[in-house]
Amino acid sequence: MTTATYPRLLAPLDLGFTTLKNRVIMGSMHTGLEDRFYNYGKLAAFYRERARGGVGLIVTGGISPNRQGWLLPFGGTLNSLFDVPNHRRVTRAVHEEGGKILMQILHAGRYGYQPFVVSASNIKSPISRFKPRALTEAGIEATIRAYVRCARLARTAGYDGVEIMGSEGYLLNQFLCARANRRTDRWGGPIANRMRLAVEVVRRIRAAVGPDFILMYRHSVLDLVEGGNTWDEIVLSARALEAAGATILNTGYGWHEARIPTIVTSVPRAAFAEVAGRLRKEIGIPVVASNRINMPAEAEGILARGDADLVSMARPFLADADFVAKAAAGRSDEINTCIACNQACLDHTFSNRRATCLVNPRACHETELVFRKAATARRIAVVGAGPAGLSAATVAAERGHRVTLFDAQDRIGGQFNIAMRIPGKEEFAETIRYFGRRLELLGVDIRLNCLITREELLAQGFDDVIVATGIRMRQPSIRGIDHPKVLSYLDVLRDGRPVGRRVAIIGAGGIGFDTGEFLVHDPRVALPVPAAHWMKEWGVDPLVATPGGLAPPVAPHPPRQVWLLQRKTTRPGAGLGKTSGWVHRATLARNGVTMLAGVGYERIDDAGLHITVGGEARLLEVDNVVICAGQESLAELMPADGATGGPRFHKIGGAALAAELDAKRAIREGAELAARL
Ligand code: NAP
Ligand code: SF4
Repeated sequence: MTTATYPRLLAPLDLGFTTLKNRVIMGSMHTGLEDRFYNYGKLAAFYRERARGGVGLIVTGGISPNRQGWLLPFGGTLNSLFDVPNHRRVTRAVHEEGGKILMQILHAGRYGYQPFVVSASNIKSPISRFKPRALTEAGIEATIRAYVRCARLARTAGYDGVEIMGSEGYLLNQFLCARANRRTDRWGGPIANRMRLAVEVVRRIRAAVGPDFILMYRHSVLDLVEGGNTWDEIVLSARALEAAGATILNTGYGWHEARIPTIVTSVPRAAFAEVAGRLRKEIGIPVVASNRINMPAEAEGILARGDADLVSMARPFLADADFVAKAAAGRSDEINTCIACNQACLDHTFSNRRATCLVNPRACHETELVFRKAATARRIAVVGAGPAGLSAATVAAERGHRVTLFDAQDRIGGQFNIAMRIPGKEEFAETIRYFGRRLELLGVDIRLNCLITREELLAQGFDDVIVATGIRMRQPSIRGIDHPKVLSYLDVLRDGRPVGRRVAIIGAGGIGFDTGEFLVHDPRVALPVPAAHWMKEWGVDPLVATPGGLAPPVAPHPPRQVWLLQRKTTRPGAGLGKTSGWVHRATLARNGVTMLAGVGYERIDDAGLHITVGGEARLLEVDNVVICAGQESLAELMPADGATGGPRFHKIGGAALAAELDAKRAIREGAELAARL
């Protein structure tokens, strides 16, 4: 693979007054570091690595133009000269690496999770408990002035421009759509009035900053909510934004309160690019495609089809700072691909924690998790080639240690080999590909099909042994658990054992939900699910003929009837990811899965699964019962407490703690341990 593979993606873009070195934008992401002045050194280091990695244009996380616009209390704000030195650290770092950076101005409007919230009308959003105050005429003028002041200060701080956040249901989007704008003055009513605030903001910023400052506007081209805009309204407002002085039009999909997913892993790659392509035909300035684009081939394809002039990827730059450099060097197979899990980025952001990345724990921790060359090369055995072991083995080898990796299976990847079989989770295969390539490049000695014993490890004279042997499934003690109709999730997902038409799943954790999705998938639908089919399933009209682009979803045809059970009385799926759990729950509900909480398991026999729910006996007449009842640690290689002599033993991942088994912790623990050895 050579640079010529991505000729469009790597071509410069002349904006008249400045040139972007390629068509790749690192989209805006809230990292949590921008909210506190003392974290700007870490933020600068984060962006420095991405600029060094060759991305054409970086957009910062959202910075509010005033206190009313805060997303969270005391969120990042740029409204006085006192804030400028912090931002200079960021712009200097990016410019020293030859990059360009825009600051995103984000006024949250009614999405603010704080008491000063304002909006077009005083209509509460379903995702914040604070009811907004409708801005007065004077309040609107003050808001425009705050945007202009913020953009001027951004220029003073050395930014190459600003991105004005006008999509995803934030303030400008609230004014733009009847859903949140019920005003009867010149700022509400017909689209010409509803778009006035966005257009005024662009016009007045352009007048204040002059012609040689990039002004990118993120425009909502598919609101995906009732009361959203139609295509004609979207085009009309885009043209007005262009005329007001926007340099580039970025595209946004779905309000945060929408009940249609737009970025989780089950959304097909580049699903929305064709909508950007339609807008590109209507305006003269460059258009940016975004959402679920995570590899250079997809990005190149979008440009080749003429759907966009630039491609924005956000989370892929958390996963790999060197995305562009690797693509340019013909090393795309070395890219650490974002699997769109949201577990360490958005889930952290929405629980007020610093963002990072499940597949790259260094993201946003560049100054803290450092992989220095080891003073002396040690001989290290890593036992278990699941996420924890792969992470430890690659970091240790990168630091110069001599690493041998053992696994009892015939392939690397551990539980990721199971996860990648779930419809919509195909991306997990990319992580296995990434680690496989790293092991190869780093010369790790890989021993597959090898069930190594402690004695053999001791005999081979290792300095350190990392036990990353993972987990074994928990077998619950239920009468009849040995009945032939009982299967484990491994029987179903890994070994493809036949499953009947009526199935009960015991355990509604992450794997129970995954197994449910696997069992209700219509085998006539290809995997990965094609974008056109996915749109029909979720009720998306990509032509946006209806307000918000909503269409009646087509009914699915699940091949089975499934019951998903748990003993707890909490809502099934409550422990799934904050920003992705609702998608899993909605998928199963749409496919008619019955989710029961507060279940007691009595016995399994020829008739089916006998349970109690709320004290009442019930029989589920099922053909199969699939056990997804959690895990227990598998760490038999660890020496007994107090044993001395021989190599140092370390335990990571599921082997260390099965109760909280998750790939984010496993990969981070592997990297942190290997960074210390
Ligand atoms: P889990 O999340 O701990 O869920 C185990 C389930 O089994 C629970 O519903 C639990 O509910 C039930 N259970 C536990 N002990 C039981 C017993 N003795 N008898 C009957 N039921 C029992 O474990 P998992 O589903 O195996 O997932 C493991 C980890 O993988 C998760 O923690 C997650 O980090 C990760 N994962 C996440 C996802 C995702 O987020 N989509 C997907 C796959 C895996 P009750 O005790 O209430 O019955
Ligand atoms: Fe992508 Fe998951 Fe990393 Fe977020 S945590 S950047 S979604 S791989």
